[in-house]
Amino acid sequence: MNSVRQKQALIKKLENAYVTCSDCGTKYGVYSVGCSSVWEGKCDVCGQIKPITEARDYAYFVTGIRKLKMEILREKSNRKTQEQQSKEQAS
Ligand SMILES: [Zn+2]
Repeated sequence: MNSVRQKQALIKKLENAYVTCSDCGTKYGVYSVGCSSVWEGKCDVCGQIKPITEARDYAYFVTGIRKLKMEILREKSNRKTQEQQSKEQAS
């Protein structure tokens, strides 16, 4: 389970990624073109040397970024509820 901070770092990485391997692409994005040029290089997301392609071909990870942001919001609101509950119990 990723912490909020790790998720925020991942969002930043996805937003700044210019190239991606197909593993990271399908994990965080949706393949949006019929075919794309693939070459060997360093994936901006996982940092491994793999066959990579442009992040554009995975719609710039919009689906993955949206999902991560939703998860962060949910975790933050959960935390707030827990804080409120412990405060109420203390008083
Ligand atoms: Zn990758």
